[in-house]
Amino acid sequence: MPENQQEVNGTYFIDTHAHLDMIEGKTPEIAIQEAADENVKYIINVGSSIEGSLKSVEFAKTYNNVFASVGVHPHYANKFGKKEEEFLDELIKSNKKIVAVGEAGFDFFQNPVSIKDQERAFVAHIELAIKHGIPIAIHDREAHKETINVLKNYTGLKNFKAVLHCFSGDADFALKCIGMGLYISFTGVITFKNAKLTKEAAKIIPLEKIFIETDAPYLAPQPKRGQENYPSYVKYVAEEIAQIKEISVEEVASVTSKNAEEFFNLK
Ligand SMILES: [Zn+2]
Ligand SMILES: [Zn+2]
Repeated sequence: MPENQQEVNGTYFIDTHAHLDMIEGKTPEIAIQEAADENVKYIINVGSSIEGSLKSVEFAKTYNNVFASVGVHPHYANKFGKKEEEFLDELIKSNKKIVAVGEAGFDFFQNPVSIKDQERAFVAHIELAIKHGIPIAIHDREAHKETINVLKNYTGLKNFKAVLHCFSGDADFALKCIGMGLYISFTGVITFKNAKLTKEAAKIIPLEKIFIETDAPYLAPQPKRGQENYPSYVKYVAEEIAQIKEISVEEVASVTSKNAEEFFNLK
């Protein structure tokens, strides 16, 4: 049936989480162009700090195919106070291309910032996202339990939309997240041979709940492992998911892109 023909034929990828401002091996302009050449229609540039958030907004203003997320990473949560919260609030108000808040959440891997500070910043980000009716991009490293504990206060609330970026849990945790209405985003980590549990999670959850991302310049997928990562490599994530789910790359591209466009309201 030709009903979905446009989607099937016009497949493209969306890198829902990248840090173009941290890439060192090439200019953002070249990285964006190379992504476009590899059929990446949109890139969401995610802020890790106030400076990073401003960069995200700058990229979004400069490049048609880049959108911005603004927030402060749990590694810098001790530097996130009322002043920063108000700054982001104003920033979101004045920029239509800010499509998400984050990344925020918990990181218990080599992070000197106290859990209390991380939680305080995380909650402030969630409330900012709800206030503006945009999603929150959550960072959860070695903190599944704490992440769920915070999120359970918000699930089901009007305007609450959340994605767990760089998903690192197992199938059980993935199902729990889906049950709470969350979306799940996979990075190049899913292509690693030792990422057995992540692959199982991808297998079990519906494609309609999945986004793909690079988290560039970090976490380059298997063929480029150890090198700097770029949004143009997001296809490797799609290829891996296609293999795991035994479907075509086109289907992964088409469904995850549609998911992301609706979720982040990209246009
Ligand atoms: Zn992250
Ligand atoms: Zn990130």
